Order: sequence, then C-alpha cells, then structure tokens
Amino acid sequence: MIEMQDVWKTYPDGTQALRGVSIQVDRNDFLYVVGPSGAGKSTFMKLIYREERPTKGQIFVNGFNIEKLKQRKIPYFRRNIGVVFQDFRLLPKLTIYENISFAMEVIEANPKQMKKRTMEVLELVKLRDKANSLPGQLSGGEQQRVAIARAIVNNPSVIVADEPTGNLDPDTSWGIMKLLEEINFRGTTIIMATHNRDIVNNMRKRVIAIENGLIARDEVRGDYGYED
Ligand code: ADP
Ligand code: ADP
Repeated sequence: MIEMQDVWKTYPDGTQALRGVSIQVDRNDFLYVVGPSGAGKSTFMKLIYREERPTKGQIFVNGFNIEKLKQRKIPYFRRNIGVVFQDFRLLPKLTIYENISFAMEVIEANPKQMKKRTMEVLELVKLRDKANSLPGQLSGGEQQRVAIARAIVNNPSVIVADEPTGNLDPDTSWGIMKLLEEINFRGTTIIMATHNRDIVNNMRKRVIAIENGLIARDEVRGDYGYED
C-alpha cells in the first residue's frame, strides 16, 4: 500500500537526508522506524504524508503516485493519512471535542456524522469525559490520545507517528502503544519512528533502521538494535 522506489531527498541547503530508499509497506503492517538522530527518519515520514517532496524517485500510496496528484486531489489524499507528532500539536484554544471535529470539517462531513464520529473516537481513546476541556487541562498522555483520536477520525488507511511517546513517561507510553496496537488490529497501517528501545524490543514488529539516509536493516520481527 506504500511503496518508495529509489527515493532521494536533498534539502535546499544541500543536506542529503535520504540517498536512495526503496521499501514496500503492506496494508495493515506495523512498522517501526529506528536509527540515530539526523539519519533521515523524519524526512522519510514527511515524504509519506507529503509534507516534503522527494528530489528523485517515486512514492506510491494506495496505488497512487503521490508526486502526480492533481492539486484538487490533495485534500482527499491527506484525509487518508493520519499524523501524530511527539509534541501533540493540538489547537490550545479549542476544546478536545473541537480539536477532533475540526479535522472532519476539512473533509466537509455533515454535522450529524461529525458529532457521531467525534464521540466514537473519543470513546475509543477513553476521553469522553474530557470533551469540553482544553488541551492545557490534560496530561501529556491524554493530549496524545486526543491527537490519536484526531488522526483516526477520518478513517485513514495509514497512521504516521513521529516519536509519539517521546515526551511521555514509560507507563503512559505503554498506554499509547496499546492504543496504536488496537488501531492497527482494526485495520490501519501504522508507521512509527521511535527511539524507545523497550517498546520496539517488546512488540516484535517489522523494524527498519535508517542510517545516513539509507535503509540499513529491514527485519520482520526486529529489535531496536542500538545501545542508546
Ligand atoms: P531524523 O528524523 O532521523 O533525526 P531528519 O530526517 O530530521 O532525521 O534529518 C535528516 C538530515 O536532514 C539531518 O542532517 C537534518 O539536519 C537534515 N534536515 C532535516 N530537515 C531539514 C531541512 N528542512 N533543511 C535542511 N536540512 C534538514
Ligand atoms: P461505521 O462505518 O459504522 O462508522 P467504523 O468502521 O467507522 O464504523 O467504526 C467501527 C468502529 O471501529 C468504531 O468504534 C470506530 O471508532 C472504530 N474505527 C473505525 N475506523 C478506525 C480506525 N481507522 N482506527 C481505529 N478505530 C477505528
């Protein structure tokens, strides 16, 4: 469902972040992306959700070459990918309910559908009772659960999560992983960059290591493989 063919990314200042990456990610995979800081992990993720464009090479998502998408098709492409960040990125002045339903306004859902689906995902992340709170009133783990609810509200086929547990303590991180596992179990592909060795080593999913802009390792039931 996601395929990269010899993808290169050179930033305008000349930094070569990726230097010929080819990979295939199947529907319903759970993929960990590991590797040293500066290796190219975030760039790899950004290319998938089209925040950055490759300098060279092809990227396919659900059979579409995302470089060739017509401008008017981009919103449809984006709704198919949910993104989760280390720093949550909730809108601070909107309530939890509004943060989630706002993501549906972008796709012009009708108000009744929006309400039903927002309550459904709030239920899934166990935050129904926080619907009217502001993000600043929630703990880090709760804020990340809101961000995950927002990421899945449009039923994407893929979730891209860039260090989603990076700001959370170990117990809270495990809660987030259980939630992502549940979402994966329900049929969503998950691609997650992480420096969390315990999580990668305990989950035994597919692991790719990016080093120096290249895929250095790709294992079906992999481990973290670094000492840091
Ligand atoms: P990682 O996520 O593994 O830490 P990144 O993909 O963020 O790696 O970065 C890969 C390389 O590209 C690094 O050398 C980084 O400094 C550089 N880089 C990332 N973003 C930019 C940018 N917007 N402009 C220039 N260089 C960048
Ligand atoms: P319906 O089509 O009836 O709205 P859905 O397939 O949207 O049903 O949802 C069925 C259940 O699965 C709901 O509890 C919903 O929250 C959950 N769900 C649906 N899609 C996803 C997804 N991509 N990730 C996680 N949970 C999902």
